[in-house]
Parts: sequence; structure tokens; C-alpha cells
Amino acid sequence: MGPPGSGKGTQAQILAERVGVPQIATGDILRAAVQEGTPLGREARDYMDRGALVPDEVVIGIIRDRTQKQDCSAGYILDGFPRTIAQAEALDQMLTEAGGEIDFVVSLLVNEEELVRRLSGRRTCRSCGAGFHIYSRPPQKRRVCDLCGGPLYQRDDDREETIRERLLVYRRQTQPLIEYYRGRGILKELNGSREIGEIQEKILEAVGVI
Ligand code: AMP
Repeated sequence: MGPPGSGKGTQAQILAERVGVPQIATGDILRAAVQEGTPLGREARDYMDRGALVPDEVVIGIIRDRTQKQDCSAGYILDGFPRTIAQAEALDQMLTEAGGEIDFVVSLLVNEEELVRRLSGRRTCRSCGAGFHIYSRPPQKRRVCDLCGGPLYQRDDDREETIRERLLVYRRQTQPLIEYYRGRGILKELNGSREIGEIQEKILEAVGVI
């Protein structure tokens, strides 16, 4: 867990590779659906562009289907889900039915000024999906991917006015989940302002991998 821009996608991806289980990012699944113009994408697009949350039943359905795939049998890293109490309760119910449980909830803490700086500078390659940042990881050639030469773009929801809305949505709808998980003793809160590699080490320690 973490507000938009806290680095949860980056950390979830590294952790998933390290542990050898899939990363399931609802934001990525929704963006792919929008790009492909599927019925799911058409339904989700308007919410995402506004910085609002996609309705609970839609994302719960995505997670229900995805976690039943074969590659999830040894576990998975959820990234960007759950984001509301209703989603967390649905997840608990799904896990109870499947005989599983949540091992840990990692929450990344980053102050708001830093989040806005990170998000507004974020750029992604349209061809290969590689991530760049205009301040901290600029491409060698402006607006061109270093890896494949594809064009870089800014996510529609990474524009300043939408960023403010997403942060507000996080505070109102997602932050209450912190207490929900704290009460169960599975919450690991970490400083998300350090270097990517340092944070990853702390996460691995917190979840008992190292
Ligand atoms: P992210 O890439 O995690 O920042 O997600 C981008 C956008 O996708 C969010 O601003 C929401 O509109 C939508 N989204 C992703 N995950 C969820 C979720 N668990 N619940 C509702 N909306 C979501």
C-alpha cells in the first residue's frame, strides 16, 4: 500500500521477481484494458481520468479472476489493491474461501510534496512500458525511450490537477485500511523516501525474506 507515487509499483515488481510469484497490479490491468478498448476499459476510463476509484465490484471481479490463475497457486503480490474497506473485506472473504491468508501488508510513507514532484515528472514508454522520470531518471534523448527508441508519454492521471484528486481519494478512501490491517498485526510501515534499493532491502527484512 501507499499513496500514488510512493513507489509501490516499483517495489512490488522487484519483490515479485525476487520471491518468484506474480505481481498483480489493478492499475496496470485497468490501463491495459483502456488501451485495448475492451468493455472493462470503456467502463474504467472515465473514473481513471478523473483520478477517482473504479467501482469496487469491477476491481474485485478482476482480482477474483486473476488470483484463480495457475501461476498464483504459490502466492502473489497485490499492488494497488485493496483500496477501500469494501475491497479489503471482499479480499478476506476470497482468501477464506480459498484457504489462504494475507502474510503482510507493506505501507510506504512519503510526504505529499515529494509525491507531487514524483508523479508529475513520471514518463512511460508507449512501446515497451519502461519507466523514466524527468528529474531523477531522465531519458538520454528528450521524449525517447533509452531501451527501445519508443515515444515517451505522460499518464493522463499524472497531470497536476488529477494528482491532487488522487491524493485526496487516497486519504479519504484508502488510508482507513491502514488501521484495518494494523489491528491485525500484519502491517509493516516503511519510509518510502529512500533509494529504491534501500527500500527493497527494508521490505525484504520486514517480510522475512532476508
Ligand atoms: P495506479 O496505477 O495503482 O495508480 O492506479 C491507477 C488508477 O486505476 C487509479 O487512480 C484508479 O482509478 C484505478 N484503480 C487501480 N486500482 C484500483 C482499485 N483497487 N480500486 C479502484 N480503482 C483502482
